[in-house]
Amino acid sequence: VFLLHTMEDSFKVQEYLNERTPRSAVIIGAGYICLETADALIHRGLTVTLVSRPKTVLPTVEPELGKLVEQELASHGVELWTGVEIASIGHENDTLSVLSTTGQKLAADLIIVATGVRPASGLAVAAGLKTGQRGAILVNRQMETSMPNIYAAGDCVETWHRLLRRYTYLPLGTTSHKQGRVAGENAIGGNRSFAGVVGTQVVKVFELAIARTGLLESEARSAGFDPFTTETVGWDHKAYYPGARQLHFRVTGDRTTGRLLGAQLLGHWKSEVSKRIDVFAAALFHEMAVDDLSALDLSYTPPLSSPWDPIQMAAQDWSRAIRKQQSRLELANV
Ligand SMILES: Cc1cc2nc3c(=O)[nH]c(=O)nc-3n(C[C@H](O)[C@H](O)[C@H](O)COP(=O)(O)OP(=O)(O)OC[C@H]3O[C@@H](n4cnc5c(N)ncnc54)[C@H](O)[C@@H]3O)c2cc1C
Repeated sequence: VFLLHTMEDSFKVQEYLNERTPRSAVIIGAGYICLETADALIHRGLTVTLVSRPKTVLPTVEPELGKLVEQELASHGVELWTGVEIASIGHENDTLSVLSTTGQKLAADLIIVATGVRPASGLAVAAGLKTGQRGAILVNRQMETSMPNIYAAGDCVETWHRLLRRYTYLPLGTTSHKQGRVAGENAIGGNRSFAGVVGTQVVKVFELAIARTGLLESEARSAGFDPFTTETVGWDHKAYYPGARQLHFRVTGDRTTGRLLGAQLLGHWKSEVSKRIDVFAAALFHEMAVDDLSALDLSYTPPLSSPWDPIQMAAQDWSRAIRKQQSRLELANV
């Protein structure tokens, strides 16, 4: 039974795969690390069952896209147990098994558990530093902790979220690098401020890349926005040029102000999914309206895009849908 927190953990899995040649695996969890692991183990020839407590996998995107990820997993032979909670892991007569809270049992030669991250803030707590959400160390925008001249960064700290306008816990490598640079510079007398995150992430699962930035509709609502979401399917480049593939967009904007609040994108991993979500991320960073995306001077050549990049077409769909909804409301009020 393995965790996947450190490089050493993954080396131990490799060693076990090479020496014991397990044939079946159960992966407990359905976040990005679990999906990447399912992909890797299928490539090694194992039969893989993925157990997800939420009803759809990859809860960092909305269930509409989670369902498409499930189809991709199933088409590569991953068996899915969704909406299932594991109560215990058993070990009898050299056989491992998992048991769900509803009594489903499954044997496996290898079990991987990747159900989330907890900040390793024990050392900080022992030193008297204040902690907040999930035990993460409290820092200010200069990455200074509650104790003057002690700086912290990365998975152990709370992170400033630009859209939520508050601290949250969002451990990622991208964030850690930026925070580390700010903390390091300030620790030697600089005056740098961490700009904050907008919640951008991407994962590759078999042939798909799935990305998001900003807020999901439910998160936007909880944060006091008035979110409205549209779904658009478009081609990654001009359909007449060979090899065009579909991209699935979900765009969320604020119904009242028109401000872009978030975007999710799923497509073939060679369809520039991550760079396209990064355009949304840059727009979110600068608090742009959904409408403003159409004004961006994005690149075009038929094998790679369209005169309106699919990002812009998805944004235009959102604007059309909101105008339609508003005119329906106006008509209803006449
Ligand atoms: C399997 C996996 C895949 C990931 N993929 C991605 C990805 O694709 N994109 C992404 O953005 N993020 C990804 N992440 C997250 C990313 O790796 C982390 O957010 C990032 O490494 C955190 O950086 P950090 O410096 O805070 O912590 P770490 O990288 O964990 O480094 C902390 C270091 O401190 C050392 N340490 C701890 N305690 C002590 C002590 N008391 N004394 C001395 N040293 C100590 C540890 O040994 C470790 O070397 C992934 C994480 C995992 C586990």
